[in-house]
Parts: sequence; structure tokens; C-alpha cells
Amino acid sequence: MGPILHGLIKLQSVENRLRAAKAKLSRSRRSVIIQENQVRSLQSALDAKKEELQLTKVQSGRLELELKIRDEEVSKLRAALNTAKSNKEYAAVLTQLNTTRADNSKLETQILDLMKAVETDEAECENIRKQIEEQKAQLEQTRKTVDAAAVEHEGEIAKIQVEWNEAAKAIPPEPLKVFKRVAETYDGEAVAQVEEQEGRTTAYSCGGCFMGITAESVNLLITRDELIRCPNCTRILVLNIAQIHV
Ligand SMILES: [Zn+2]
Repeated sequence: MGPILHGLIKLQSVENRLRAAKAKLSRSRRSVIIQENQVRSLQSALDAKKEELQLTKVQSGRLELELKIRDEEVSKLRAALNTAKSNKEYAAVLTQLNTTRADNSKLETQILDLMKAVETDEAECENIRKQIEEQKAQLEQTRKTVDAAAVEHEGEIAKIQVEWNEAAKAIPPEPLKVFKRVAETYDGEAVAQVEEQEGRTTAYSCGGCFMGITAESVNLLITRDELIRCPNCTRILVLNIAQIHV
């Protein structure tokens, strides 16, 4: 290993810090998104409740109208009772009157139930509205905190980026291109250390994917400053310091 591979090890450590700083920034932004979603889902719960309330009101109105018509019918039947010309007619009208009255009483119960449901729904709407207000206030607070933290995170990212650029300067264009490409594939992890397999001093594996690495590759790494990539995962292989004087 020579300056290129040592440079890549350095670049990898800066890359790790850069990724960590960027992850911190997006994690903190995510808390705003989560709260925004909560507000949105409360809003749609409120809309659904309002719609339900509207339907109950319409139904209640319809039943009230029906009750009014039937009450008029009761008055008519009562008048008819007084003008009945025979016992048979009287009895028939009386039966109809009683049936209508019984139906009306059922209707009244239904209307009462609907009115109770309206009350409950209205209370629930109010409750959801309150929750929305609270969530919105909390969201505003979070947004302020996150915005302030973002400035800090961005400053940190910019600082590490300068270090990254500096470290990248030490690496020729071709290896740098490979580093960037592999880093994209493995979430920043472009360089993998060769590991000695447990209990066997001449068997090696890739620290990234744990597949075997030939002793020949390890010898090349010891003697040259060239990119040797894991044949399985394509990560750039390096030795740790202890392995160099094998
Ligand atoms: Zn590998």
C-alpha cells in the first residue's frame, strides 16, 4: 500500500463523517414531516366527522318533516272520529289513529337518537379541532428548532466537505471515480479492510461482504499501491496497519 490507498483510507473516514452529518440533518427534518403528517391526518378525520354530522342532520330533518305530516294526519283522524257516522266507522278511524300515534312515537324516538348523535359528533369535531390547533402550535415550535439546528448541521456539513475535497485532491482521478461509484452503491462504504479469517493466518476475507480474498490479492496490497477490489462486492480493499508487516 502506498499514498493512493492510504489516501483512500483517509477519504473514507471523512466520507463517513460527511454522511453522518447529512443523516443528522435529514433526521431532524424528518421530525417536521412526521408532525405535518399528523396534522394532515387529524384534518382528514375532522372532514370525515363533519360529513357524518351533515348526513345525520339531513336524516334528522327528513324525519322531522315526516313527523310533522303525520301529526297533521293525527289531527285529521281526531276530527274524523267526532264526525263518524257509525260505530264501525268510528272503530276503523280509532284503529288508524292508534296506529299512526304509535308510529309517531317511534319516529320521535328516532329523531331524539339522531339529535343525540349530532351532539356527540359536534363535540367530537370540537375535540379534533382543538387537537389540530395544539398540533399546529407544536409543529411551529418544531419547525423553529429544526430550522435553527439545520443552520448548524449545514455549517458542519460544509466544513467536512472542505476536508473531503482536500482529501480527494491526494487521489488520482481514476481511483477517485471508483471510490465515488462504490460509495454510492454501499451508502458511503467504498473501502473495506481485508480481514484474517479466524484461526487461519493465510485465509482472508473482505470486511464488507465477508467473502474470501486470495492470498495473491493480499500480497499485491502489501507490495503495490493499486486498487484491488473485492471480486464479490467490488469494494476497494485495504489492509489494516497490523497486516502490512506480515
Ligand atoms: Zn466484498
